[in-house]
Amino acid sequence: MYNPSSLKAEEFINHEEILETLAYADANKDNMELIDSILEKAKERKGLNHREASVLLACDNKEKIEEMYALAQQIKQDFYGNRIVMFAPLYLSNYCINGCVYCPYHISNKHIARKKLTQEEIKREVIALQDMGHKRLALEAGEDPKNNPIEYILESIKTIYSIKHKNGAIRRVNVNIAATTVEEYRMLKEAGIGTYILFQETYHKESYEKLHPYGPKSNYAYHTEAMDRAMEGGIDDVGLGVLFGLEMYRYEFAGLLMHAEHLEAAHGVGPHTISVPRIKRADDIDPTAFDNGIDDETFAKICALIRICVPYTGMIISTRESQAVREKVLKLGVSQISGASRTSVGGYCEDEPEEENSQQFDVSDNRTLDEVVKWLMEMGCIPSFCTACYREGRTGDRFMSLCKSGQIQNCCQPNALMTLKEYLMDYASEDTKRIGEALIKAELENIPKDKVKEICKENLIKIEQGIRDFRF
Ligand code: SAM
Repeated sequence: MYNPSSLKAEEFINHEEILETLAYADANKDNMELIDSILEKAKERKGLNHREASVLLACDNKEKIEEMYALAQQIKQDFYGNRIVMFAPLYLSNYCINGCVYCPYHISNKHIARKKLTQEEIKREVIALQDMGHKRLALEAGEDPKNNPIEYILESIKTIYSIKHKNGAIRRVNVNIAATTVEEYRMLKEAGIGTYILFQETYHKESYEKLHPYGPKSNYAYHTEAMDRAMEGGIDDVGLGVLFGLEMYRYEFAGLLMHAEHLEAAHGVGPHTISVPRIKRADDIDPTAFDNGIDDETFAKICALIRICVPYTGMIISTRESQAVREKVLKLGVSQISGASRTSVGGYCEDEPEEENSQQFDVSDNRTLDEVVKWLMEMGCIPSFCTACYREGRTGDRFMSLCKSGQIQNCCQPNALMTLKEYLMDYASEDTKRIGEALIKAELENIPKDKVKEICKENLIKIEQGIRDFRF
């Protein structure tokens, strides 16, 4: 039985409900009256449910798709302005005991180099990341209770937060590690993590079990209920995602929205972020071996619809995607992107020789952070290195209610400008600095409250004088 507030995976991600949703979407994909009414509802900016969203996804009328894109752009602008939050992944260890058939870290891969960073090596990686200008990381690790126990992850977080190199600091550590217990989630919360990220990979139980043939991750219910345990452990910012290409995208899309609806129904707070990874070539992984790859146009439509359906949820795009694809979806609602990422263990300090490859997947955007920052600004975006919300206790439903009332704009805009200013002062090339200074000057005018604008201006001067880490 479908029940969004149930804590049982098969009740809140209910297979029959998804099949009925897809049938309903197929039956109505040319029903313009219904589609118009759904688009009207979406204009209220309160989101759409999985059934409504699935009808829009099934609709292939060009004019209506253009309307969806225009609305996604408008919602993006209204909620996020032109700010784009920057981050980088940090791979701690690729030891893994799972059998995920799409991931080169699977235990039966004897070819890939297995690496695990020591605390000393973590320091070096973090300094390299700080020297680029990064302030926010997403920690990545395979699942291996012997090699990567929770104590290792916690110690690594402590090390990361402790490093202050020149003006550098990692101010927010998000964590993407395997599903775990309430007790371990509590430990992560106490260690000061930002978002707990866990991709569902696929919501289709039967496929999930085939794609995860052994190891702890093979338990569909345990994996799917992870966010409920994370919330029970006190983590109220959680990040969802599916790995597009594994299963039929329409199934995944409905499942993803049902998961978001479930978090809202069961815990009163929706997902903080949604990631949209697509499967990539990697060591012993050939993405063409999976039948459900999606083309760039479908991918863009999914991104636009996520923006429309969950307006308050951040959307993350990684360097799995090329510059061209990133450019397209940034406009349609993406709010966070990674830059200068390395998906190998230890990759920020040194390039690996071919025979020592530890990469999780091939990266399609190989630009430096400075190039990405400059590119964003040339498109009129504000690259933001802001990490203020969780440090000011604006997490979970507190964050959501500030978002919904629009008050968040008085924090996000000045914080984005002040952290960009830090980046320009400490790390940018001359060209980037020049473009950035002009952007900051123009964007100061878009801070709604005069008082906040004044304080922001004063802080920008203090940043020029060498003081760091201002925030609203
Ligand atoms: N071990 C943790 C887990 O199981 O959730 C951490 C996740 S892993 C380091 C990060 C994510 O990379 C996975 O959740 C998966 O979606 C994605 N991934 C794995 N193989 C991939 C591939 N070949 N191409 C693109 N993404 C991949």
